[in-house]
Amino acid sequence: MNHKDPLSILPVRQVKGVSPRKESELHAFGVRTVADLLEYYPFRYEDYRIRELTEAQDGEKMTIRGTIRSAGALQRYGRSKSRLSCKVETNRVLITAVWFNRHFLQDQLVPGREIVLTGKWDKQRLQLTVAESEFPDRGPSKSGTLQPVYSVGGSVTQAWMRKTIRQALEQFGAMIAEVLPRELIERHRLMPRREAIFRIHHPEDTSDGREARRRLVYEELFWFQLKLQAFRSLNRKRTDGVAHQVSADTIRSFAESLPFELTEGQKKAINEILVDMRRPYAMNRLLQGDVGAGKTVVAAIALYATVKSGHQGALMVPTEILAEQHARSLAKLYAGTGIEVALLTGSLTERRRRETLAGIQMGLTDIVVGTHALIQEDVFFRSLGLVVTDEQHRFGVNQRSILRRKGMNPDVLTMTATPIPRTLAITAFGDLDISTIRERPHGRKPIKTYWVKHSMMDRVLGFIRREAAAGRQTYVICPLIEESDKLDVQNAIDLQAQLQQAFPDLRVGLLHGRMTAAEKEEVMRAFETNEVQVLVATTVVEVGVDVPNATLMVIMDAERFGLSQLHQLRGRVGRGAHQSYCVLVADPKSDVGRERMGAMTETDDGFEIARRDLELRGPGDFFGTKQSGLPEFRLADMAADFAILEQARDDAAELAGREDFWHSPEYAALRERLQQDPVFKGSSSTRQQCLPGGI
Ligand code: ADP
Ligand code: MG
Repeated sequence: MNHKDPLSILPVRQVKGVSPRKESELHAFGVRTVADLLEYYPFRYEDYRIRELTEAQDGEKMTIRGTIRSAGALQRYGRSKSRLSCKVETNRVLITAVWFNRHFLQDQLVPGREIVLTGKWDKQRLQLTVAESEFPDRGPSKSGTLQPVYSVGGSVTQAWMRKTIRQALEQFGAMIAEVLPRELIERHRLMPRREAIFRIHHPEDTSDGREARRRLVYEELFWFQLKLQAFRSLNRKRTDGVAHQVSADTIRSFAESLPFELTEGQKKAINEILVDMRRPYAMNRLLQGDVGAGKTVVAAIALYATVKSGHQGALMVPTEILAEQHARSLAKLYAGTGIEVALLTGSLTERRRRETLAGIQMGLTDIVVGTHALIQEDVFFRSLGLVVTDEQHRFGVNQRSILRRKGMNPDVLTMTATPIPRTLAITAFGDLDISTIRERPHGRKPIKTYWVKHSMMDRVLGFIRREAAAGRQTYVICPLIEESDKLDVQNAIDLQAQLQQAFPDLRVGLLHGRMTAAEKEEVMRAFETNEVQVLVATTVVEVGVDVPNATLMVIMDAERFGLSQLHQLRGRVGRGAHQSYCVLVADPKSDVGRERMGAMTETDDGFEIARRDLELRGPGDFFGTKQSGLPEFRLADMAADFAILEQARDDAAELAGREDFWHSPEYAALRERLQQDPVFKGSSSTRQQCLPGGI
């Protein structure tokens, strides 16, 4: 059975008045079928409702109805320019109506005749400059209505679009079928679909239009969420993942061997992860928490669990520096457990690389840390049980299918360096289960943040000196120079030289993207051991670097960084018991720059920062341009329709989690629609088998 909504098959030329030429122009707007046309919603309405003069402001556009009281008087200027005027009585007030360049209307302006005028009201002169006029004795008119305004262009005019959509509603409106389950329509008092589509094009009044829109926004968001939730729910029914077998005692005794006590948030996250790992489906979980919340330890425990169950783990990070650092800190955490950690990066010698690959394949290596390439190409695991990766390199369907081809379907834990506002989390990561660590480890003091002008640089230098005298260390982050990696590097080199001159008795290190892996590793090692007291760096230190003795973060030209990025950079300090500071050096010229500095000095709660960042940048930019992962909606607006989004998600999750959703005839139409969707057709055929056939 391959039943589809017939309107989504009928080509738009079936609508009367759509010529082949118009049809191809409609294609440019993405309108191919009758359904597309009916769902070509207006983005606003033009108000032709008749009002009284006293309600209007001077200069406002308004529509009035009245009686013509004088014949049209015409003045011509040159060949085509003219001014036509007459007196019109409305509500016992006599006004002047003026048309420009509409001389052909003169004959129609007959005293005693009713007329509807829309135009700009001049209160002083009691004059209306007419944009549109209609005569009620000429049949149906748009007066008294809200007229839809569509996005149009080319030979597709507003008037043509209005007429054509009206025609489509007339011809095909009766075929518009309901798609939402009845229970949801009743629970949320939604307009039936057919009515909503009629009303959104032609609302009776503003609240009518709002209700129509609410229904259609809900439908759009519900459908989007149902796909994600159905996907999740199906994944959880699968049994081809790794069912880890590890006892709570094993985990507990490892946790007790750590040099600190886990926070409640860490414990909760670990428990959620272990529940998933023990089940036979492939975990797909996001771990989010503010910088310094201690996500790495959580990942380390999950990796420990996979090894103790007889499998291997992989930790994928964005840069080599991080890979090296994580490999070192994991080795430290696993000291005495017999767990073998290997590093796999591009800068290994060919021989080392071959040895490492062999170790992974034979299962001598328990955990591999590396950049993203490590699950690809020629890397074969004996038994990969868990992949931990970061949000920047989201583990997608492609990577899963690469691994499946190698006979693996590991659990996946994605970590985010940026707390994600809830709206974005449920849109961009709606297919993942989410664990959140809210608090930071005990005893952490909030990082004191100051914003200073460049003219105060001397005092900043004094600050660096004081921290060094107390045995502490400082990061100095160079300004980010967009589109010029070269200038970035040059800046860092210059700044390092200047600071070294200013602090002859200290060692000032340098870290930037153009250095070789060995050079980077050497300077990071020297910074970790406090041989280097001041580290000048480009943003390569942004993600994940962990040196608890560093207590001062100086960010040059801070206004050039995004808010979330600034917060990440700040998170490099405040990782030990000592009071830490962040100094933003900036003379921002823009309001956004000033607001960023303000936000940074006012709060160091990453969730709050993320919220403000989202406000300042909008959802599209939030994740950066690379891959926003955000869908585009026809009608819904993620920020404004937040409440509906949450509702739609809860409803979709509830429905997809119910057994009868997958069998009951009541949901057959929804299931069929799901089956049509590329997500479910997707790259893996097994996914389709999961949808119960023969609906
Ligand atoms: P994140 O990756 O979330 O930014 P990390 O995992 O790097 O944070 O942890 C930050 C620092 O806090 C590290 O030095 C880590 O060893 C330490 N840490 C983690 N958990 C705790 C805890 N429960 N108590 C004390 N220190 C902790
Ligand atoms: Mg599992």
